[in-house]
Amino acid sequence: MLKIAFSPVYKYALPEGHRFPMLKYELLPEQLLYEGTITEDHFFHPEQLVNEEMLFTHTAEYLHKLDHQLLSKKEIRNIGFPMTTALVERGKYISKGTYDCALYAMTNGVAMNIAGGTHHAFADHGEGFCVYNDFAIASHLLLDRKICSKILIVDLDVHQGNGTARIFKDEQRVFTFSMHGAKNYPTRKEQSDLDIGVPDKTEDAYFLKMLKETLPKLIDEQQPDMIFYLAGVDVLETDKLGRLSMTLNGCKERDRFVLEQCHKNNIPVAVSMGGGYSEEIRFIIDAHANTFRMAQEIFF
Ligand SMILES: [Zn+2]
Repeated sequence: MLKIAFSPVYKYALPEGHRFPMLKYELLPEQLLYEGTITEDHFFHPEQLVNEEMLFTHTAEYLHKLDHQLLSKKEIRNIGFPMTTALVERGKYISKGTYDCALYAMTNGVAMNIAGGTHHAFADHGEGFCVYNDFAIASHLLLDRKICSKILIVDLDVHQGNGTARIFKDEQRVFTFSMHGAKNYPTRKEQSDLDIGVPDKTEDAYFLKMLKETLPKLIDEQQPDMIFYLAGVDVLETDKLGRLSMTLNGCKERDRFVLEQCHKNNIPVAVSMGGGYSEEIRFIIDAHANTFRMAQEIFF
């Protein structure tokens, strides 16, 4: 069965004034239930990670500042949310959700988090709505606990996974692959193990061609025993921040291809949602829902 990490905390901990586009954390599960893609049985409620479990990824100083609301105004501005205790805790639930998804994926093939993909979080600071780096935290724990020995991060959000790239710069056991808008945030890119920057207005055909030329080869070369997939839907042409010109269908084909590759090669895949900022929320929900629909279709 497709296990999905979801907790009421995901939706209620968001600060006033940030309901949109964060409303998606509330609407997406409703949509998936309504259309029958999933039932309540698919959900599991993660606990919070404790700080000790995040020390491979984040500095003790940063974790301390988060817990005690000691971030400077500038640090808070960089994250982009007003910081509250609830928001910090939300990040711990989400990160545990991603870690648990990886464990579920090992038995079920795939598992998905209805949040996460917070790839702009660095070891010592957050950026771009990202507080903790869930893929990095989960990867470090899987390696430390000898559950996995080689991890591939496939980041297809329109923004470069700069935090993830930096965190794993010198870690041979984690291969970071980011395909993103070359002109998009962050202006100053970090170096992933493989970066593909695509031009503004990139359409389905080119994006999918690059992906299809790259991913099977990467899997072959790296032989990962776990894949983390960041399925941001800010690649859509309707996205306010995205700069690309992908259609809903192209975005769905992207998800299908990634999940099929994982399935075909028998590599567990844990999926986090990432960004999505279309003006009309129905596009965001439909595109994210497609990732779940594809997982159901391919794996179950
Ligand atoms: Zn993004």
